[in-house]
Amino acid sequence: MWKCPKCQREFKNRNQSHFCGEKENNIDTYIADQAVEVQKTPVPGKPPKKSKKY
Ligand SMILES: [Zn+2]
Repeated sequence: MWKCPKCQREFKNRNQSHFCGEKENNIDTYIADQAVEVQKTPVPGKPPKKSKKY
């Protein structure tokens, strides 16, 4: 983890390019939040429309 000395934000990659000061509009944060949402949100069972024979 790398912490930006300017905005005190932590990033996976060192010296990751970002906009200092912007916390909510960060793409990486957005993606991370999305990933967490996907992981937390239980995916409703999708009924198989096409039955595949393995
Ligand atoms: Zn920064």
